[in-house]
Amino acid sequence: MSTQALINSVIRPEIRALTAYKVADATGFIKLDAMENPYIWPDALKTEWLKRVRDAEINRYPDPEAKSLCQILKAYNRIPDTCDLILGNGSDEIIQLLLMALPAHAAVMAPEPSFVMYKQIAQCLGLNYQGLPLLADNFELDIEAILGAIKAQQPAIIFLAYPNNPTGNLFDSAAIERIITHSTGLVIIDEAYAPFTDFSFIERLTEYNNLLVMRTVSKLGLAGLRLGFIAGHPSIINELNKARLPYNINTLTQCSAEFALTHPEMFAEQTGTICTERARMFLQLSVLEGISPSPSAANFILFRTPHNRATDIFNALKEKNILIKNLSSQQSLLKDCLRVTIGKPEENNAFIKALKATLQAL
Ligand SMILES: *Cc1c(COP(=O)(O)O)cnc(C)c1O
Repeated sequence: MSTQALINSVIRPEIRALTAYKVADATGFIKLDAMENPYIWPDALKTEWLKRVRDAEINRYPDPEAKSLCQILKAYNRIPDTCDLILGNGSDEIIQLLLMALPAHAAVMAPEPSFVMYKQIAQCLGLNYQGLPLLADNFELDIEAILGAIKAQQPAIIFLAYPNNPTGNLFDSAAIERIITHSTGLVIIDEAYAPFTDFSFIERLTEYNNLLVMRTVSKLGLAGLRLGFIAGHPSIINELNKARLPYNINTLTQCSAEFALTHPEMFAEQTGTICTERARMFLQLSVLEGISPSPSAANFILFRTPHNRATDIFNALKEKNILIKNLSSQQSLLKDCLRVTIGKPEENNAFIKALKATLQAL
């Protein structure tokens, strides 16, 4: 049998139709493409952390329920006592776990543009994914259209990133409430950018049994650990837990995250600086001729560039050693759009300087 015939017979067509999620090689670049926290830890803290790691029993399997880490995450994130948690190897794994639990061909919805993994994983699993186009002028939810789609298709899951990636805005909370109350399925509020905003649905978890709130430590400053969680009604969490692999959170992640999260002041200082820089970057972008930034409650800013020049600008920045994200080819709403992650002040300055020079040379 030819290799292609072999592939055709064993790999599902929906997977063959996908392209793998690509991550650009950032070696040597000022890296402002992936919403990472740019700060590392002071040496004293690293030493203390390494002591914990040294004593970790990596010959043993990890705690399958990560009980002590769950307690710390619950306190750190002020999750109501009556809710339970599931941890994932990044929130990506939780999205996969949620979607794996659904009936075959169930409808899954998410706004577009939004986080690409909702669609990617849903399609990979052969689910009926439906994008809900955001309004073009302000990237808000088109609430009447969404309520209509919910009524017609009864989605098993709706994902809402709050703040949304890649647009950076917080959707209208009254519209989100209407989606929760009109939905006969689960509504997942993805709060990956919670460290950069005061708005959250965590407190409202106790009001709705179909609401789940998902978070990650990635954007906070621990992207390398791969740790996310979802909180919700204990009976729903109990069902989802059956689809989880038993040792999905490794020992080094458990002990490192437990250690890190007992230093909330350090993260508060770092995310505070990032938010201050976000405001400064927004102003600097908005005064540039031809650039219009979108208001952001996250650690990145989406901005529109002059007509049909986004890719040229992206490449010119790359030549100046600055890596951001080019979204201009993804969808019509993102035409001419680039996204920059907020870095250290000196990195942000280098970006603004390079962007100015690039625009002048256009
Ligand atoms: C980055 C991101 C995630 C993924 O987080 P991990 O925990 O690193 O897998 C999830 N949702 C949104 C909206 C994101 O932007």
